[in-house]
Amino acid sequence: MNRRHVLELGLLGGTSALLGWKLLAAPVTHAEVAAYIRQMEIIRPLFTAKGAPQPGDWLAAHKESGQTFAQYRASDPNRPTKERTKIYLQPIGEGNEERNRVTGLLREFMQMIFGLEIVMMPAFSLEKFPAAAQRVNGFTHQRQLLSTHILNGVLKPNRPADAVAVLAITHEDLWPGDGWNFVFGQASLGDRVGVWSTARMGDPVKEATLFLRRVLQVAVHETGHMFGIKHCTAYECCMNGANHQGESDRTPLVFCAECDAKLWWACQLKPAPRAKDLAAFAEKHELKADAAQWRHIAEALQ
Ligand SMILES: [Zn+2]
Ligand SMILES: [Zn+2]
Repeated sequence: MNRRHVLELGLLGGTSALLGWKLLAAPVTHAEVAAYIRQMEIIRPLFTAKGAPQPGDWLAAHKESGQTFAQYRASDPNRPTKERTKIYLQPIGEGNEERNRVTGLLREFMQMIFGLEIVMMPAFSLEKFPAAAQRVNGFTHQRQLLSTHILNGVLKPNRPADAVAVLAITHEDLWPGDGWNFVFGQASLGDRVGVWSTARMGDPVKEATLFLRRVLQVAVHETGHMFGIKHCTAYECCMNGANHQGESDRTPLVFCAECDAKLWWACQLKPAPRAKDLAAFAEKHELKADAAQWRHIAEALQ
């Protein structure tokens, strides 16, 4: 990362730091874990058990056993520490007004879900993108960027020391290498970097709510993986695996009781006010089913 880049990040991060972003210091105590478990049990009845998969769905093709809150804590997952306090969003390419508006909403939403400062990095210009790491797709005739170059050539070398994770978002289509037509996204969990494309998420103007919901769902689901959360097999939940767009669109934005408790613990969240904020955000952006669910959670936890 060059000096100028560091300065820009410093300025972006500085204002929020003054507003009092907490530093996650002490590990969560036994009493705090017990309180999280109590709240998890209060909201558990609000969630629908995961139904049997339809043909072609994720669980029809993948045998997964799920992960409880206790199993998650025992796995010593990647999570915020005293040193790693922020999630960075790195736009790749300039986008346009409508897509950039959605990226701004994504930042706001992630801030509520994870309770962490989400730092928007200056867009990485496609002019700096090497010719060898892009191509024109033979079927779509659209430009594609090589996802592995974004992970290893852009994100990893520039990852700030205080990053829990760095997530690139691009409106360009991606492919991961020879033999692939395209890929929606790719992550390297060990390196705490990931990239996702909105190129195949629909029209941000003609189907604005659907487009927004897809961007939010993929981003928090994949960040959940970065925090060591496995696919949820117990409830209808944001951490359900999805094999195709239709299944992904049926997946809630809301984390189930068991999976949300993992975030409460990892990010030291306050479950009740957070659910209230998320309900208000979802209502404002016409995400009706998700808004109702967060409203129920907030009321149950009051
Ligand atoms: Zn997943
Ligand atoms: Zn879940």
